[in-house]
Amino acid sequence: MNLPQRSLTTRLIHHDYQAPDGFVAPQPAVHKASTVIFPNVAAMRAREWKDKSGYTYGLHGTPTTFILEERLAELEGAAQCLLVPSGLAALSTVSLALLRSGDEVLLPDNAYGPNKALTQSLLSQFGVRHALYDPMDVADLARRIGPATRLVWLEAPGSVTLEFPDLIAQVRLCRERSVLCALDNTWGAGLAFAPFDLLGDGRLAVDVSAHALTKYPSGGGDVLMGSIVTRDAGLHLKLKLAHMHLGLGVGANDAEAILRALPSIGLRYRAHDRSARALARWLGEQPPIVQVLHPALAASPGHAHWRELCGGAHGGDGAAAGLFSVVIAAEHPQERIDAFCDALTLFQLGYSWGGPISLVVPYDIGSMRSVVPPHLAPGTVVRFSVGLEDVDDLRNDLAQALKVFA
Ligand SMILES: *Cc1c(COP(=O)(O)O)cnc(C)c1O
Repeated sequence: MNLPQRSLTTRLIHHDYQAPDGFVAPQPAVHKASTVIFPNVAAMRAREWKDKSGYTYGLHGTPTTFILEERLAELEGAAQCLLVPSGLAALSTVSLALLRSGDEVLLPDNAYGPNKALTQSLLSQFGVRHALYDPMDVADLARRIGPATRLVWLEAPGSVTLEFPDLIAQVRLCRERSVLCALDNTWGAGLAFAPFDLLGDGRLAVDVSAHALTKYPSGGGDVLMGSIVTRDAGLHLKLKLAHMHLGLGVGANDAEAILRALPSIGLRYRAHDRSARALARWLGEQPPIVQVLHPALAASPGHAHWRELCGGAHGGDGAAAGLFSVVIAAEHPQERIDAFCDALTLFQLGYSWGGPISLVVPYDIGSMRSVVPPHLAPGTVVRFSVGLEDVDDLRNDLAQALKVFA
């Protein structure tokens, strides 16, 4: 049969040429799809979307996102990973998947602010109750776990005040009481400690780790993404079903950006850590600063817990991220604190962290906590995220800006 010649438009869409197989390069390819094409109806009917045996639809994964998921599971010592469009989406997906009406969720009083806000607004609309616990008092957490408690959120350290909890004891307690625990592991990033092997002998693990890939895995300040990793297959399936129902997906170019940055995450984390410790120590000696909050500094709240979990106890330097906060003496009014932040030229004003540019944010802790913790000195908290600039340049920048206090 002689078919009529197809039009140019059709030939451009249905072109016969196939590039040869066997292309290998340092970076995985960027596969983009909403639609995935099946070879025949039988294959379409048979294809399973819940595992990685094939492809069904863009939302259920592409080679690019499968590769990224596997590498992120590896990063945190987990078995499965789900990608979501932001770190906050990782937190909300975990809560929405695991909680139902009548349940109670517990959060540390120093939890990432938007996780508290989500719990207080949306989750309470769905009949999920919550309580805040003191992150530095395991007995307080123990008292608050009741028959309705289904999930405990953990964060080590708190993301603004950086006190380091006894995470090992908190997870042990959740195990003993048969309550699920989910860690916001953005600070640790899979590098400071192993969330699925807290004791180093395979005996103690969190149930779920949620991670804002926006921070260190991206490293560029230009991608929003989150991951949810688990070891338990049943728990993963529960999360995956919620993920599917909520219609969450990530863009292929964003996945590629994370894949490109991942090989250097260890080097970058170390570099941020080294500079942050040097600047935190130096700032601690400057007169307007009355307290430095950095878990690797001996006087910082929870330092012993950090040492135990993050390696400082084994003679090495241990690992910490590039974040620290200072408390500026209460005698300085807010305008002067603001003038200090404005006077910085390398440290930029902006939220988030983990990118090349150093950032600074003044905080009003009174408005963020149900109780202002007694371990905080009176004054104003200013948080620094140390980027990858030369540390001497950053110190000089801080020194010139500190003149507003003279
Ligand atoms: C930034 C951050 C998040 C949220 O990440 P986004 O991608 O900005 O939504 C969650 N938890 C912590 C501790 C964070 O620092």
